[in-house]
Amino acid sequence: MIVERDKDLKRLNTLGLSAKAVWYAAPGSVKEVIELLSDTRFTALPKLVIGSGSNTLFCEDYNGLVVRPAIMDISISEISDKSLKLKVGAGVDWDKFVAYCVDRGWGGVENLSGIPGCVGASPVQNIGAYGSEAKDTIVLVDYIDICTLQQRRLTAPECHFGYRESIFKQELKGKTIITYVTFELALNPVVNTTYADVKERLKSAENPTLYDIRKAIIDIRKAKLPDPAEVGNAGSFFKNPIVEESFAEKLMESNPTLRLYPSSPGFTKIPAAWLIEQCGFKGVRELNVGVHKNHALVLLAYEGATGRELLEFAQKIKRTVKARFSIDIDMEVNVTASS
Ligand SMILES: Cc1cc2nc3c(=O)[nH]c(=O)nc-3n(C[C@H](O)[C@H](O)[C@H](O)COP(=O)(O)OP(=O)(O)OC[C@H]3O[C@@H](n4cnc5c(N)ncnc54)[C@H](O)[C@@H]3O)c2cc1C
Repeated sequence: MIVERDKDLKRLNTLGLSAKAVWYAAPGSVKEVIELLSDTRFTALPKLVIGSGSNTLFCEDYNGLVVRPAIMDISISEISDKSLKLKVGAGVDWDKFVAYCVDRGWGGVENLSGIPGCVGASPVQNIGAYGSEAKDTIVLVDYIDICTLQQRRLTAPECHFGYRESIFKQELKGKTIITYVTFELALNPVVNTTYADVKERLKSAENPTLYDIRKAIIDIRKAKLPDPAEVGNAGSFFKNPIVEESFAEKLMESNPTLRLYPSSPGFTKIPAAWLIEQCGFKGVRELNVGVHKNHALVLLAYEGATGRELLEFAQKIKRTVKARFSIDIDMEVNVTASS
């Protein structure tokens, strides 16, 4: 395993932000992860785990060790009449994994087609899109405890999955290196076309296949979301806030264009994009950063943008939304700091 010094992270994050890591390594196995963490050069240093950096904002140089797990194997761990369990290395590209399943007729992750990132990050924020979430198929998460170097395994209920949430963003934040994720996939899948855009695209398909769903979703995403290869972005920058139903209903009385989405009993999800748009930020550019013209939830980092500049812009949006609507919008993107 090669350990690099002063590694430039610009190509390792989809915002394309410049930052350097004092140390960087991409261990290819559990053994290599343990070897790396046991190296006394790094014992006292902060450690950051990344996948493809598609949900990460580098605010400054990272004064520590950046670890990018490159565990790439996929194996069937169990099979029954109805389903199979697939143990997938953390370094596998998420969308390649989805394609792998769709090609074999294994159902459950097809609605998550086209999401950038690595499999190891999928349980961290319980990735979700088009009526499906990673938690619907994840059964086990294997990780290494960064402090004790012990190998641990959590079942899905132990991961405390929620909307863009899990134990890896709470109690275990910054304490784990996820090495494998095990998914349970259906051998006789029933496709999920409940999401309006997907239903509309597939209205003429009689019995849509997994492949039809994947293609429809990739097409919708391409039409809606900016490509990070063209302009730096991290997809949705903020989470949709969840507020009390009574509060949301009052807000709706004075804002008839507001759409509400169901959440847990007594609570409602409000689209953060609507709040940001109402505050006049949609399509706005300030120096090297901005908000996408079609999608107010997507913040853009143009060439030359710094992480600090983007963070300050995001904080300005957050403050404006709070002042106008008394609603806090939280960042979905992970902001890194080593100090
Ligand atoms: C254009 C675009 C569209 C997007 N669309 C969606 C979408 O539809 N739905 C959605 O949910 N997300 C979406 N995202 C966000 C992003 O793709 C996901 O959050 C993805 O899971 C991030 O994967 P990554 O490997 O890039 O993670 P990174 O950004 O590298 O890391 C994200 C977090 O996970 C941690 N982490 C990463 N790997 C590990 C590991 N092996 N062990 C422990 N911790 C780890 C990191 O420390 C960090 O806190 C989008 C992003 C972009 C750029």
